[in-house]
Amino acid sequence: MEKLTNRSVQVDRSPMTVSERMYLPGIIKGMGITIGHVFKKKATVSYPEEKRPFSPVFRGLHILNRDEQGRERCTACGLCALACPAEAITMEAAERKPGEENLYREEKYAAKYEINMLRCIFCGYCEEACPKDAVYLTETVMPANYNRKSFIYKKDDLLIPNPNKQG
Ligand code: SF4
Ligand code: SF4
Repeated sequence: MEKLTNRSVQVDRSPMTVSERMYLPGIIKGMGITIGHVFKKKATVSYPEEKRPFSPVFRGLHILNRDEQGRERCTACGLCALACPAEAITMEAAERKPGEENLYREEKYAAKYEINMLRCIFCGYCEEACPKDAVYLTETVMPANYNRKSFIYKKDDLLIPNPNKQG
């Protein structure tokens, strides 16, 4: 076993010179460092006015997609919830009624679809598991909120607006 050795630091106890007693060398050195940083490239950004470019593989908030006719793509098959390692997705399926063909693409649809963003780890497995191209992760960063409840995104928060709907 390696033997621990005591490390000592030699302290210079010689009396300070006049300029040292006036702290001048220290002040000049400090100002030099500060001025040097003024001309360097900034390491910070003025968020939110200025935004850093994201990596091409960045995954942000989810959306629920619609088809070209504006109908909800999700058929509440549950594969996204099954693939989710964080158990962040909850849903309830319902059956389409006659006359709702322009609302939902298939007979089954998600009456309730929620994602708990505090549980989500933005892995993208839900997107990969979806056979209907219904759920996507966008480049939108999740906004801050004041309470935990606001981090549970409901279907209305996730579903993109219907492009065919007037008003
Ligand atoms: S991104 Fe990952 S953790 Fe988040 S809801 Fe989808 S599968 Fe779950
Ligand atoms: S989002 Fe996709 S995987 Fe999830 S329930 Fe809907 S259709 Fe199924």
